[in-house]
Amino acid sequence: MKEFQSFFKTVKGNEGNKCHYPTRLDTYGCGCQHDCKYCYAKSLLDFRKLWNASEPSVVNIQKVHRTIRRNLKEGDIVRLGGMTDCFQPLERHHRATFHTIEELNKQNIGYLIVTKSDMVADDDYMALMRKDLAHIQITVTCTDDSFCRLYEKATPPTKRIAAIEKLQSAGFDVQLRLSPYIPQFIEKGVLDMGIINNVQCDKILVEFLRVNTWIRKWFNIDYSDYTFNQSGYIHMPLELKIKYLSLIKGFKELTVCEDVSEHYDYWQRKVNPNRDDCCNLRKNMSF
Ligand code: SF4
Repeated sequence: MKEFQSFFKTVKGNEGNKCHYPTRLDTYGCGCQHDCKYCYAKSLLDFRKLWNASEPSVVNIQKVHRTIRRNLKEGDIVRLGGMTDCFQPLERHHRATFHTIEELNKQNIGYLIVTKSDMVADDDYMALMRKDLAHIQITVTCTDDSFCRLYEKATPPTKRIAAIEKLQSAGFDVQLRLSPYIPQFIEKGVLDMGIINNVQCDKILVEFLRVNTWIRKWFNIDYSDYTFNQSGYIHMPLELKIKYLSLIKGFKELTVCEDVSEHYDYWQRKVNPNRDDCCNLRKNMSF
């Protein structure tokens, strides 16, 4: 098993300027067993032969603990799983994410977990995570368990939804992360907005699909709505995003994570409940 060395990074540029949590700690790298066909990380690393989906590299946990102690302080929030999923199946054996959270708890540092796995809601992780420090976003991209297997090898969506509801009812700061939101799946009958709108969760975060040459090659959908070019990616125009966003109903809070500068301004002004934090995390940290 290779060691993943570049596990700690503060993202800069277009994305870093918009994101309120640009500091990332990835417990697994250079590959992700979920192997999603629309994966941005894969599209940036695969052509340089730096991506191995079946055998990702794993951090040295002692180095992670030292890095946390040296670079983060009480009250910070670090993002776990920004580049690859920190709850991919490897975690069951290596427990690198588990031991990272242990250290973050010790240092009173918050953590934003982004995952497509229901492992985060297993009893041992729920007992480990502190409600004042943990912020969890579980990603859902369609509502059809069999269709999902065609383009991502993560936990089936029905189980992800059950995990969201378990965390919500236990009082965690949890969000359904509809990311990427692919409205083309609605027509196809594999993204049922009735199911999404019925998820028992207070908060939803939406991030629309953006496409580059590699993703377009691997992920076969109808791209006729994707006509807006910016920074090497093709997006849907804002009017269409607004139209599709209106299909999301019933959540107490809806927020949009966005890459396109003009669209980001619009969501900030008109939609997002927290103008300074498009992740819309609950801030109740008290030590
Ligand atoms: S879970 Fe995330 S990092 Fe892993 S393959 Fe899918 S999109 Fe990429």
